[in-house]
Formats: sequence, structure tokens, C-alpha cells
Amino acid sequence: MLGLMQNWPLTVDRILDHANSAFPNREVATRAIEDGQLKRTTYAQIAARARQVTNALRERSIAMGDRVATLAWNTDRHLEAWYGAMGMGAVLHTLNPRLFPEQIAWIVNHAEDKIIFFDVTFTAIVEKIAPLLKTVQLYVAFTDRANLPQSSLPMIAYEDFIAGQSTEARWGGFDENTACGLCYTSGTTGDPKGVLYSHRSNVLHAMAANQTDVFGCGARDVVMPIVPMFHANAWAIAFVAPMCGAKLVMPGAKLDGQSVYELLEGEKVTFTAAVPTVWQGLLGFLREHNLKPTTLKRVAIGGSAIPETVLRAFEEDYGVEVIHAWGMTEMSPIGTTGKLLPDHYAQDHEAQIKAKMKQGRVPFTVEMKIVDDEGKLMPHDGKAFGRLQVRGPSVARAYFKNAGAKNERGECLETCGFFDTGDVATIDPLGIMQITDRAKDVIKSGGEWISSIDIENIAMGAEGVANAAVIGVAHPKWDERPLLVIQPKPGASPSKEAILKFLEGKIAKWWTPDDVQFVDAIPLGATGKINKLALREQFRDYKLPSAQAAE
Ligand code: ADP
Repeated sequence: MLGLMQNWPLTVDRILDHANSAFPNREVATRAIEDGQLKRTTYAQIAARARQVTNALRERSIAMGDRVATLAWNTDRHLEAWYGAMGMGAVLHTLNPRLFPEQIAWIVNHAEDKIIFFDVTFTAIVEKIAPLLKTVQLYVAFTDRANLPQSSLPMIAYEDFIAGQSTEARWGGFDENTACGLCYTSGTTGDPKGVLYSHRSNVLHAMAANQTDVFGCGARDVVMPIVPMFHANAWAIAFVAPMCGAKLVMPGAKLDGQSVYELLEGEKVTFTAAVPTVWQGLLGFLREHNLKPTTLKRVAIGGSAIPETVLRAFEEDYGVEVIHAWGMTEMSPIGTTGKLLPDHYAQDHEAQIKAKMKQGRVPFTVEMKIVDDEGKLMPHDGKAFGRLQVRGPSVARAYFKNAGAKNERGECLETCGFFDTGDVATIDPLGIMQITDRAKDVIKSGGEWISSIDIENIAMGAEGVANAAVIGVAHPKWDERPLLVIQPKPGASPSKEAILKFLEGKIAKWWTPDDVQFVDAIPLGATGKINKLALREQFRDYKLPSAQAAE
């Protein structure tokens, strides 16, 4: 027997329509790309202009299922194009400008994008890739005619693109499983893989992301997504804010400490989200100028493990609650968040900090488990590590055009209905997960696993260390042993001895790196994470002193 409730497909156009009817005058403030000045609009205006985008797309023969790409920062116009394309059933494909131009071109061709909307700051990239692109029919610069850059590329200004279009357009009315968004993983090996979100997966994910113990935003919040819309849907914030009527602050192209601080204070931001490197920039600026955030209440930090110094600075120095988040593009992206449980509140502050350093627990709609190499369940004792696998309505079951269900780490995408994340983790008796490594980065020493992330996190706290990375290096006796690579702070010259001394007592003795090497810069990938593949390549011919001794 079926229920007798109405059929109301979960499509994302309803989110902006809801904001338009429930919070029409709630503000969306953007730091303009052209001049860095603040520009103000409302959900009602965004909704009207998004429909103009739909009409302009239809006029250019864009139909349901066609891919429409953006190469852009977080701005009001990006939001309009986002809803304008999704609302009519086209697929909004966010491109990551931090990738190499050749990679972007490969991705556009693979996705068969028909139109690219781009910010003028990325004109040089678009000019470079345009001759390689096979399916793109139109380039639209997110600006007006007066600010259109000089270019040999045939392009149209966004304001001209939508000018004269009606602010009424047909939206939705299709199956909630219709494709909605496309985002390629920034895989460090093999070709990038497209994750194809559906309307239903995006709506359910946004609702999960805004549960009280996840982002927990409401109409009184002022939300600033610093995490870009091209980085896994801005962690759902472009859906969450209009859903709950929060004011949105779009930071545009300027993400340095001072610019972020100006927006936090000027717009009275209460909730924001970004990867750790952004926060290191902000915290440095605050310290240098002896400033404090005065309105900020919560900050979500994820994408890579949170450094303890960042966690303590927010929570202890500024009284801002940190929400440590783990996830991945294939999970829409939120997998876990680190909000504390009643048991933690019974513990002292140091124990709570320790718990918050972990990646956290799953919200409703995510299931997770850890298994060994044979797929056997591992205990939830906080000690045993295993491969982390997940499932849920917002988890990928295949990649775009790629039935070969392997992820970029070469692991099976769908293992008994579970997605293998490629991460290695523990789960403690309270259900709190902690990432100990990427499956491919874990160091296998004498049959035991050493977590590179644990050592990195601790080494980051040593005097004069700007960044730290640990890789496994071949060893004749132990198979692999850890090598610690340090990027010193400008002007600092920490010694190998001092760093090893600092690690003493903080990690198991047999985890102690066999050597420490210093580099000017640790290579980073397109989403700001350490590129271990490049680092391993850099140290390909390196031999550990302990290996030479053992030979
Ligand atoms: P995203 O787009 O969110 O960065 P990616 O798919 O590029 O997602 O990368 C996901 C991977 O990033 C995860 O599998 C995990 O290894 C790492 N990661 C994400 N968040 C965290 C975190 N809080 N702590 C440690 N690692 C993390």
C-alpha cells in the first residue's frame, strides 16, 4: 500500500523559490570581482535574475541534461547562473580554476560543456584553453559590458546575456533523480572523475548539512561560504542559506586574512566555512593586528585535517565554536562533523579538544563502517584502523560516463553497496571517526601501519615549521619507513634534532621518522592539500641513512 501524501519532487529550484517567497528581502552581499567593492542584492532579485538566465539559456538552445560550466568565485552572479541552469534541468558544472589549464580543458571536453560562464580574473585561462575545447559554443564573462576584458576570444558580458529576458520562467516539474550538478574530483592520479549530483541528492544533502549538530544555521545567521562553489558545492552552503533564510556574504576573489576579516566584521558574519589554509591566513592577520572577530559564532573547517593550533585559536582565544568536517566530492561532500556528545561534555577541556581533533560523527543520511583488506568489519575501539566505507542518498554510486566503478585511488567505487572512500580511519566507542591516512599514503613498516597525518599534525606544532609532510620511503628491512619533510617558516631554520626532540613522547617510538629533510615549499594540489604524489616523486632517488646502514 502506498502513502497518500502529495508528490513534491525534491528539486533544487524549490530552494530558491522558497527563499523568494519566505525571505524575499534577505540580503546577499558580494565583494565584486571588478573593483572589490561590496554589492548588495536580495533573494528576490537573485531569483528573478536566475530565471532570466534560464530564458537566455533556452534561447541558446540549452536543454535539460546539457552541461553548463562555470569557472568562477563565489558571487551573486555565480549563484544566479547556478540556479538558472539547475532550475531548468540543465547540469551546472563547476570548474576548478586551480587546476592546470590542460586539465581544465580535458574536463570540459569530457563533460561536453556547451557554455562557460567565467569571472574576468580567469580570462587568461579561458583564452588558453579555448582552442582545445570541442563542444563549447559560448563564453559568458560574469560582468557588464563596461568591464569586459580586451580579448581575442568571442565573448559576451553576462549582463548583456540576460538583458531583456523575462523574469518568469518554467522551472522544475521533472523527476527528482534528474542530474543537477557535476564536479570532477581533483584526483592526483589518473584522469579526473566526474561526480554527477541529482536534484534529490542535493536537496537531501543540504537538509542533512543543516541539522543542528552539523551547520545548524537559521534565519538570523549571516553565512559566508569561503569554500568555493567549485569545491564540492561550497559544502552545500549555496543551498543551505536560501533554504533557511540566512543572509549570504559572497567573498569573491579576495580570500587573504585582511579581506576575510573585513567581511566578517563589516557584514556581521555568524557562520563561515573554509579549508585550514584560509584560517591560518586569517589567524595570522588577527594576531599581527591584535584584532578579534566580534560576531562570529561558528566556523566549519574541513577538506584536510584541522591543525590543533587553528582549533585552539578559534575556541580558546576567540570563543568561536569549531565544527571540524570531513567529506569528499563523492559525498556531496559532507561525511562527518565533529560536534561533541553529552559524554564529551562530562570530560575536561583537554579531552574535548582531543575529541574535536577527530573528524567526527555521521549525520542522518550517512552510514559508515571500517573494514580490513578482506572486507571484515573492524571494531569501534578508537584504535583499530580500517578502510572507511560509506553509503547514503548523497553518495556517488558511479562516475559520469565511467561505468568502471573505481575511484581515483584505484579502489572499488561500490563495494557491497558501500563506497570505498580511500581513507583509513578509526571509529571510537562513541562513534567518532578519525582519519589516520589515505589508503595510499599510509606507511607500511614491518607489516604495521603508521599514520602520516598524525605525525604531520604534531610536527606542525614545532617551532619554525610552516608545513610538514610525511611520506613512506623504501627500507630494506622494514619495507617502508617514514621520512618527515619540513617547510620552515620564512626566516626560520629549525634543526632536524629539535624537530625529532619535539616529537618525542607525542608519538610511538617506532613511528619516529628515520630522517627529516627541509624544502622551500611542500607541493600543494588544486584544493590546497599536500600533493604526496609530487613529493614522493621529488624524493624518488632519496635514500634514508638508516636504509644505507641496513644494506
Ligand atoms: P574535497 O573536495 O572535499 O576536498 P576531495 O574529494 O578532493 O574532497 O578530497 C576528499 C579527501 O580529503 C578525503 O577523502 C580525505 O582524505 C580528505 N579530507 C577531507 N576532509 C578532511 C578532514 N577533516 N580531515 C582529514 N582529511 C580530510
